[in-house]
Amino acid sequence: MQVRITVSFPYEAPVSQSLFDRASAVTPGGVNSPVRAFRAVGGTPRFMVSGTGPYLTDADGREYVDLVCSWGPMILGHSHPEVIAAVQDAVARGTSFGAPGAGEVDLAEEIVARIEPVEQVRLVSSGTEATMSAIRLARGFTGRPKVVKFAGCYHGHVDALLAAAGSGVATFGLPDTPGVTGAQAGDTIVLPYNDIEAVRAAFAAHPGEIACVITEASPGNMGVVPPLPGFNQGLKDLCAGNGALYISDEVMTGFRVSKAGWYGIDGVRPDLMTFGKVMGGGFPAAAFGGRADVMAHLAPAGPVYQAGTLSGNPIATAAGVAQLRLLDDAAYGKVDAVSAEVRGLVTAALAKEGVAHRLQVAGNMFSVFFTDAEVTDYDAAKAQESFRFTAFFHSMLSQGVYLPPSAFESWFLSTAHDTAAVERIAAALPAAARAAAGATA
Ligand code: PLP
Repeated sequence: MQVRITVSFPYEAPVSQSLFDRASAVTPGGVNSPVRAFRAVGGTPRFMVSGTGPYLTDADGREYVDLVCSWGPMILGHSHPEVIAAVQDAVARGTSFGAPGAGEVDLAEEIVARIEPVEQVRLVSSGTEATMSAIRLARGFTGRPKVVKFAGCYHGHVDALLAAAGSGVATFGLPDTPGVTGAQAGDTIVLPYNDIEAVRAAFAAHPGEIACVITEASPGNMGVVPPLPGFNQGLKDLCAGNGALYISDEVMTGFRVSKAGWYGIDGVRPDLMTFGKVMGGGFPAAAFGGRADVMAHLAPAGPVYQAGTLSGNPIATAAGVAQLRLLDDAAYGKVDAVSAEVRGLVTAALAKEGVAHRLQVAGNMFSVFFTDAEVTDYDAAKAQESFRFTAFFHSMLSQGVYLPPSAFESWFLSTAHDTAAVERIAAALPAAARAAAGATA
């Protein structure tokens, strides 16, 4: 995407720039996950060398208050001493066994104990694997081919789930990215988010064909766009009434917005759920789970194949267990409180400069849309004045606050965001709000 930058920002990251140059020679676009490249906002992506508590330090030695938290996982802040100790303890005993280990049982038990609809769980290494496996299982269990997903929801880079990004072709289930064939995407039905009548119509149009509806429990990948009251329950009821499975993707919200994720907030009982991010404590660990009768179809118990060399890796499970055990009600209370405080500061600064904006919230996750209008779906999210975010982002960055480098992402906080970190954010906001006010498309 070509983006016009409406702020000038000093060339102030020479070491990051030289790392980016080296990276670009050996890695496509210089990064291992596209959004890290800063393409939506321009400028030099910061290469990070360390993280402590709420702070990241880049290769040029600059410190930032981190409002990305590794896109969600670092809910206790960086280098939490108890998580690091658990990792050090595990690593001293070996790094991968290719055989079952106690850590996998501990992590599975933590998940099952927290999230009541999850009777059985399978560990994998990424959220993408979790959603890919969940829809395979749903198809294997129901014997049906089609999957319903929503425009603007992201479920990782699963071929069948990339037909999604809101373009006209996506609406017809055509591939959204080169490399995904029509056959891979042809059984995907993409619908507008928060439109329960569209889901009802899809079931009516494809009787006996829909294996599952997959949705982000509360979307964070088009910015934060929570489900309208009754939407998730409506999905559940339509699935139940039509013999399909309701899959709630909690890779982002799981263990973040409450002890039991978004399920802990809306109480709508999915047939299958997917998890990642927080449950890995900063390591590659993810999971899918749910009804025992459905999970029983998974190999080796059943015929639906799924496997992984590093699934349930002992370091990742040790980190995940340590992190989850620290996440009690008090911890969530702390993240909720600091999130509310930061939201209040952001909205006050933008209002003072007369910048049209809207904060949308899902538990302790939130994002800032540069629009007056309520955002309930992807089209509305795209209608915001995202050029203002670009100016806002670079002003914050230059003042030592690291925001997600896109207007379509959630901001993330942690238990480590203390008064000092909040004060740094507060100090940066007035100039950033002025930059947003002065930005032009
Ligand atoms: N599902 C959701 C809701 C996500 O937010 C993400 C990643 O951001 C994924 C799935 C994919 O997870 P991963 O990046 O670990 O493959």
